[in-house]
Amino acid sequence: MMNIILFGPPGSGKGTQAENLEKKYELLHISTGDLFRYEIGNQTELGVLAKSYIDKGELVPDDVTIGMLKNKVNANPDVKGYIFDGFPRNEYQSEALDNFLAEKGQTVNALLQLDVDDEEIVKRILNRGKTSGRTDDNDESIIRNRISVFNDETAPVYDHYDKSGKSTKIDGIGSLEDIFGRLSAAIDAAV
Ligand code: ADP
Repeated sequence: MMNIILFGPPGSGKGTQAENLEKKYELLHISTGDLFRYEIGNQTELGVLAKSYIDKGELVPDDVTIGMLKNKVNANPDVKGYIFDGFPRNEYQSEALDNFLAEKGQTVNALLQLDVDDEEIVKRILNRGKTSGRTDDNDESIIRNRISVFNDETAPVYDHYDKSGKSTKIDGIGSLEDIFGRLSAAIDAAV
C-alpha cells in the first residue's frame, strides 16, 4: 500500500495533480472538498452542515470530516493506496489519520507540499471561480480567510510528518507537466 498526502494551500493545484497521479500510480484519489461538494449537490444533512462552514472559508468540524473520510476509505479497500487531497487539514486530523491507517497495518508514506505564494493563490482561485461554480471561489475576503486558516491550522501538518522525514516541499509554480514530474520524482524516491 502507498499512502500519499498531497498538501498545500487552497488553489495550489492539488486536485489537478492528484487526478494525474491517481492514474500513474493506480491509487484512489480522495478529496474531502469534492466529497463535501457531492453531499452539498445532493442536499444531504452532511452537505447542508458542511456548506455553512465552506461558504465562510472555515474548516468543517473534525468529527464530520474524519467520519466521511473513513467511510470513503472503507468503501474502497481493493486499491494500491490512496492520495489524500485536502486531508488532513489540522494536527487532530493527522493523528486521526495515523491511527486509522495503523489499525489497518498501514502508514502515510509521504507528504508532498505544493508551494505557491499567497498572491498567486488569490489570482488562481479568482480565475477558477469564473467557471468552477464554487461560491467559496468568488469572494476575495473568503479566499484570504482560507489562506489564513491554512497558515494557522493546516501548516503544522507539514511539521507533523516532517518529524519522521516524510515531508517534502515541491515548487508549485510552472507548467502542469513540470510539476507532475517533480511530484512523481518525489513519490518514486519515497517508496
Ligand atoms: P481548496 O483546497 O481549494 O480550498 P477544497 O476542495 O480542498 O478546496 O476544500 C474546500 C473547503 O472544504 C475548505 O475550504 C473547507 O471549508 C472544507 N474542507 C475540505 N477538506 C476539509 C478538511 N479536511 N477539514 C475541514 N474542512 C475541510
